[in-house]
Amino acid sequence: MSTSLGKLSAGGRDFIDEAHLHALLGRRAEPAEIRAILAKSLAKEPLSIDETAALLRADAPEEIETLLDAAQTLKRDVYGNRIVLFAPLYVGNECMNDCVYCAFRRSNRLAARRTLDAADLRRQVEALVAKGHKRCILVFGEHPRYDAAFIADCVTQVYSARVGHGTIRRVNLNAAPLDHDGYATVKAAGIGTYQIFQETYHHATYARVHPAGTRKSDYLWRLDGVGRAMEAGCDDVGIGALFGLYDWRFEVLGLVAHAIHLRERHGVGPHTISFPRLRPALGAEVDRPHLVDDDQFKRLVAVLRLAVPYTGLILTAREPAALRREVVRLGVSQIDAGSRIELGGYTELEGEQQPDREQFHLGDLRGLDEVMRELIADGHVPSFCTACYRLGRTGEHFMEYAVPGFIQKLCTPNALTTLAEYLVDYASPPTREAGWQLIDRELAQLPDGSRKRELVDRLRRIRETDERDLFF
Ligand code: SAM
Ligand code: SF4
Repeated sequence: MSTSLGKLSAGGRDFIDEAHLHALLGRRAEPAEIRAILAKSLAKEPLSIDETAALLRADAPEEIETLLDAAQTLKRDVYGNRIVLFAPLYVGNECMNDCVYCAFRRSNRLAARRTLDAADLRRQVEALVAKGHKRCILVFGEHPRYDAAFIADCVTQVYSARVGHGTIRRVNLNAAPLDHDGYATVKAAGIGTYQIFQETYHHATYARVHPAGTRKSDYLWRLDGVGRAMEAGCDDVGIGALFGLYDWRFEVLGLVAHAIHLRERHGVGPHTISFPRLRPALGAEVDRPHLVDDDQFKRLVAVLRLAVPYTGLILTAREPAALRREVVRLGVSQIDAGSRIELGGYTELEGEQQPDREQFHLGDLRGLDEVMRELIADGHVPSFCTACYRLGRTGEHFMEYAVPGFIQKLCTPNALTTLAEYLVDYASPPTREAGWQLIDRELAQLPDGSRKRELVDRLRRIRETDERDLFF
């Protein structure tokens, strides 16, 4: 099957059955049913759409408390206390689409259009590396200039930049859906995750916010985007919805339906799910009936955590610092930190956000070191680990969960060595001190044996020598 934009994946179809999803959201579940669903989730089994809908309908205060508690417990059981850190890097804001919520939309005359050239890009990457980042996500508008060859070239350039000991070790993408050949091209450049957000799974809303005649108005081409990516060899994909366009409960069901569809069709679910909330943006129009408040936001994160235990959840700096601190506990596995989303923002701008150069306003503008310090104070282990991806262990979240002892043998040691690198090479004195205390506490909890001895030796080598990038 194909759309006017090209060939879909084998069996690619519109699997969002709106009437069915709405019907599921219309029925309340009995307390006993909710308890049974939570028990299934805590046994680390993915939930069905029907079960997810039951959790979304639970809105008595005690039920919500129980849900939030269960999400925290599941997060601890599956992921331990690690949080992976990354930074977004905006490469270009030329865009031929006209998404009503986005400052990069083509009809926004107030946007200062720019595409980083090779020297600009290198400067941005060097600035990120100099702060201690090891993972970044490149972000692009949709434009003929940003074809697969251009994107692949940017990826190669990012990997080649080095400052002292530091390099970016994993480059993810957030860009428009490609065709099969395009995905193969970016895969060959060594990308990590390819993210495409559906924005809204609700067809009429999708049509309203993505004007007809633009490429993005093709709902099915976008819905099938990550399926094509998987078929073309990018087996590591991320999905997401832009919360605030339509009913948040419906969007959660859309995400879960998408995850289930990928599992059924391609044998593996999405690597990550993102849940950006709509932010104010220059020249963007949004009508507000569906804006999601903080309490609803916490519930949606908790329900996603419970519904897809294998899938990483990404919380971005769109959200304010205080809320991020609370929501991280509910099941988030990755956050960005020290983010600037203006074109050239890592080197060219100080202080104030620059509305004509950014896609929307950020809620959390703290630097990486400050975020690291808060995570450490809260007992999280900030991690820059990229080992699974580099060793070809894709579907890592699945393995973390499915392979006995995986977290203890691999994830925790790798998180601790990447944290140690950060502490030695980049951290401020208070972060360094708190970080080493955390490492000592984590070591004390690991069972004695050859793995622990090796880890202790690696931590010593990182502290005392120039050896870096030691991963299990
Ligand atoms: N242009 C590509 C696309 O639309 O898929 C790639 C990335 S776009 C620059 C990244 C994401 O930012 C979009 O998918 C959308 O979910 C989100 N976004 C756009 N406008 C936003 C806003 N005003 N507030 C929060 N997130 C927004
Ligand atoms: Fe362009 Fe993406 Fe913004 Fe839409 S969301 S206007 S496609 S950059």
